[in-house]
Amino acid sequence: MLTLNMSNVTQNTEEKAEHPNSDEGSSTTTVDFLGSLLSRFKLAMPNPAGEEKDVEKPEQLLPEVSFKGVAEYLASNKCKNIITISGAGISTSAGIPDFRSPGSGLYDNLEKYDLPSPQAIFEIGYFKENPQPFFTLAKELYPGTFKPTWCHYFIKLLEQKGLLLRAYTQNIDTLERVAGISGEKIVEAHGAFHSAHCLECKKEYTQEWVKEKVFNDEIPRCSECESLVKPDIVFFGEALPGRFHELRMKDFEECDLLIVMGTSLKVQPFASLVGSVRDTTPRLLINREKCGDLDPFMALMGFGGGMDFESDNAYRDVAWLGDCDEGCKELCSLLGWQEELETLVKTEHEQINKETKTQSLKSNSPKNGD
Ligand SMILES: [Zn+2]
Repeated sequence: MLTLNMSNVTQNTEEKAEHPNSDEGSSTTTVDFLGSLLSRFKLAMPNPAGEEKDVEKPEQLLPEVSFKGVAEYLASNKCKNIITISGAGISTSAGIPDFRSPGSGLYDNLEKYDLPSPQAIFEIGYFKENPQPFFTLAKELYPGTFKPTWCHYFIKLLEQKGLLLRAYTQNIDTLERVAGISGEKIVEAHGAFHSAHCLECKKEYTQEWVKEKVFNDEIPRCSECESLVKPDIVFFGEALPGRFHELRMKDFEECDLLIVMGTSLKVQPFASLVGSVRDTTPRLLINREKCGDLDPFMALMGFGGGMDFESDNAYRDVAWLGDCDEGCKELCSLLGWQEELETLVKTEHEQINKETKTQSLKSNSPKNGD
């Protein structure tokens, strides 16, 4: 059994954790990294004295480890606080391109901007020098042009039923807000177009103000100091919003069911959220492919952060593979909520169509006439 020196474990953790592979082969770094994980995510840890200790399997809360079992548990009074974490996969059916998928991904369609690299469009340093490509792209992607998906309304339905503790999203498209989920329930981990700030004096601007500039092909500039105004989405080289760090510590301790949708869990620190719930908390993945599996190295070290869908020891992780919308519909049908979800989607989409029509008539440029 590996021995971990606890004094090493607690120091020097922050910057190392951001670059776990920067110093491969150094056991000190490895220990620092693991210690960092421990302090950040309160994961189970082998006995620091190095004694062998039987790892007891945590209590199984699901009546059976299956999609049906999750539905049964969700409907029971044991499940009061649900956290959803979601990524690009829940918005693709709204027509928003996935930044990272090859071919259809946004990065592959950026050639016309003549960028030094595709990521440059979201790099804060590049943006300050040359904001035009970002705002040209923003015009194409601007929220208000897209309708929330079945999956977004499923989250809304959870809120209506008093079951939603929080909806964490990696997406910057604000479709959670458009779907009517309360701002207080949403954590936009990578920020969103919802608000904007001057990069210099920090004066706040509304989404509408920025949008008007962008649609008039103007670069938004601060009325006070003439500096650039940037929507509050997190660029490469910027810190995640304080709200993400404040809420995650409290929320994940209280979570009774974690639903992960439309994310491959590849972007940190978002990816590590699955390991932040209690070790009994059931976790449901709804995604096109399996992800978040337990890393064999971490398993060896006694860490329980990753997901285990199919080993003999699986007791709380369930994967439903396919489109997020279909997964949500199927879950709702097991719960007897299918009609409610259908009605919600229908009325909300009709309302959005009506508003879009009114706006088009106002601006006298009929488009999106559905
Ligand atoms: Zn300013």
